[in-house]
Order: sequence, then C-alpha cells, then structure tokens
Amino acid sequence: MKKDPICNMDVDERTALAAECDSKIYYFCSEGCRERFLTETVCELPRTSYDLIIIGGGPAGLTAAVYADMLKIDAFLLTKDLGGQAIDSTKVENYMGYDFITGPELTEKFQHQLIYSHYIDHLISEADKIEAVQGGFNVTTSELKTYFARSLIISTGMTRRKLDVPGEEEFQRKGLFYGNIQDLSFVTGEDVAVIGGGNSAVQIVEKMRTVVKNIHLISDRLSADPSLVARISHFENLKMYEGYRVIDFRGENALSGLTIRKTAGEETLNQSVRGVFIAIGLEPNSHLVSDVVEFNEKGEIVIGPDCSTSCPGLFAAGDVTDAFGKRIIIASGEGAKAAMAVRQYLLDLRKAPD
Ligand SMILES: Cc1cc2nc3c(=O)[nH]c(=O)nc-3n(C[C@H](O)[C@H](O)[C@H](O)COP(=O)(O)OP(=O)(O)OC[C@H]3O[C@@H](n4cnc5c(N)ncnc54)[C@H](O)[C@@H]3O)c2cc1C
Repeated sequence: MKKDPICNMDVDERTALAAECDSKIYYFCSEGCRERFLTETVCELPRTSYDLIIIGGGPAGLTAAVYADMLKIDAFLLTKDLGGQAIDSTKVENYMGYDFITGPELTEKFQHQLIYSHYIDHLISEADKIEAVQGGFNVTTSELKTYFARSLIISTGMTRRKLDVPGEEEFQRKGLFYGNIQDLSFVTGEDVAVIGGGNSAVQIVEKMRTVVKNIHLISDRLSADPSLVARISHFENLKMYEGYRVIDFRGENALSGLTIRKTAGEETLNQSVRGVFIAIGLEPNSHLVSDVVEFNEKGEIVIGPDCSTSCPGLFAAGDVTDAFGKRIIIASGEGAKAAMAVRQYLLDLRKAPD
C-alpha cells in the first residue's frame, strides 16, 4: 500500500493511478488527486481556500460531497475516514435499492461515487479546530494545516462510547463490537459478554439468548427499564454482574476473554468469551463547534429544516444533529439537503451588497 500524497488515502500501487516527479513515482486514489498533484507541484500553490468545507465522510458527508459536485459548489471534504459508522454494519437491510448489503460494501459504493463520478478535493485527516472568522470559517487539521471556507457542513456523526481499557482497540471487530450487530454466526453456541446496563445492553442480551451458550451481562449499574430487566432475569443462560467494571480484553489473533473487577472491592474474575458487545451509549462528535452553534441537551447540533444552525453559513447533517432518526438513509438525505441549502446560502451571499 502507498499513500496518496494529496489526500492521504491508502492506495494499492498495483491498481492506482501514478505520476512521476523528480524521478520519484507517486500513486493516487483518483484522476482528480493526480491532477491536483501535478498542478500544485508546478504552481507550488496548494489550495487552502474553498466555498464549502464538509467535515466528516460518513453517509451524510459523502452524500453532501456528491451533491456539492453536482451543484458545482467549490468544495473540500475533510474526514478521518471514508464511511463512518456504516462500516461497522454487517447487514444493512433498510437502505433503498438493496434488499441486503453489508456496511463495507455500501461504503465502498459511496466512496466510488465520490472518487470516480463526483470528485471533490478531499483529505483524510482530523479537523481539530473550527473558528468563525471574517467572511467564513477557518478549519485547522491535526497536522496544523489551516483551510478557509465561506460555509461549512458539519457531518461528524456519533461515536460509540469506549471503555478505554487495554485490548479494546486491538480486538475491535476481532470479537469485540460496539452495540448491536446483525451477523451473530461467529458466536453461535459460544459464551459472550455484554457490557452496559442500559436498555441497549438488555436488548442485545434478549437477541443473544437463543443463539449463544452463556451470556455475562456486566455493568456498573443496571439502569435499564425495570420491565426489560424483568424480562431477561429468568434467562437460564444469563449471569448478571452488577457493580463490576472491565479491566482488560485478551486473546491471540482474536478475542478470547476478559477480566472484570468489582467496583467496590478487589474481587477479580477472568471470563472466557468469543464475543464482547459493548453498549454504553453514543455521543455526538459536536465538540468542534461547541463555541459556535446551539446544542440540545444531548450535545447534538440543533438544525432547522434546511440543516442550517444558529450560526449563519454553518450547516450540519446526519447523526451529529438533532434530526430525528439515526439511520444511513436519513443521514444521506440530510447530507443532500445540507449541500442544497449551502448552494442557496452562497448564491444569496453573492447577491448581498458588500
Ligand atoms: C454497528 C452499527 C450498525 C448500524 N447498522 C445500521 C443499519 O443496518 N442501517 C442503518 O440505517 N443504520 C445503521 N447504523 C447507523 C448508521 O451507521 C448511522 O446512522 C450513519 O452512519 C450516520 O451517518 P453520519 O454520516 O451522520 O455519521 P457517521 O457515520 O458517524 O460518520 C461521521 C464521519 O465523520 C468523521 N469525523 C468525526 N469527527 C471528525 C473530525 N474531527 N474530523 C474529521 N472527520 C471526523 C468520522 O471519521 C466519520 O467518517 C449502524 C450503526 C452502527 C454503529
């Protein structure tokens, strides 16, 4: 694998587009990035100013990017990854046009549409800071590069809360999952642990009941609705560990167990499990604009019907907003709407007297 020098994307040198410069070969994700490389190398003027910057490349941001190209908006996409949460969905059965598709397959189609059919400038990096400045916004990346745009779409989605314990990153998707997943074949007849005490955790337990051998439900506090707790408490294959926290996850190539400890006390237990399902909540990735726009009590960005926020020129779309329904199709629709609203905003700016 090589890195596209323009957008930072990992590319396969056997299939990627290439260009030679100063006797060195460079590889690119797309014709668009190759062209930018050749232009910027010759002119020595990397672009840092756009009409629109889209932050976040999940379904909302990628759709906004495709629409931005279709609407001829001079736009730039800045994202930590291409796909967002949808990559973690093993079975998408509620996206129009497909009876069934996996999250990675759907994401690949989104990426393809962006890179090959509706190219806009893009960079795989993290937005670290957003400032409202005269005439627009400055966006600074984690590599301390600053970009300016007259408008922004924030589509940074949500992140599953993590436990922050050893082994958690290492075994992610190798037996360790966040929330509910569709394909449970890898834990059929095996022992599993569900971490969390809320309704989501209890619903995962209900779903696992007939599939797995034993379920360990581990929580600081069982806070799920009493009716739900009552429903699971008679499951013969369920052991509840209330007042425990996870210390670490272990395994060789895939997860094989975890250690838990009593919150009040030193008692430690080792459990052998093939799967762990962590359900300790989700949080909107909205902190970047906490000084700039209005939030609701969940920390979601409050938007109007056209995805506008309390800050003129700053639009938001998808799971990071207070829009009802956290789904791929809804996030995509909101992304399209945000791009259309940005176009109108930019047209109005041009018409406005100086
Ligand atoms: C396991 C799982 C299964 C799911 N299954 C389904 C399903 O079957 N059907 C369905 O409809 N929905 C499903 N969902 C929900 C669906 O994935 C989300 O509703 C959807 O992805 C939201 O899209 P989004 O673009 O708003 O945000 P996200 O998908 O969260 O994307 C946000 C993007 O922003 C980027 N980002 C965040 N912060 C920054 C930053 N500071 N700088 C740059 N980039 C940043 C992220 O890297 C990511 O690319 C599932 C979710 C999960 C977790």
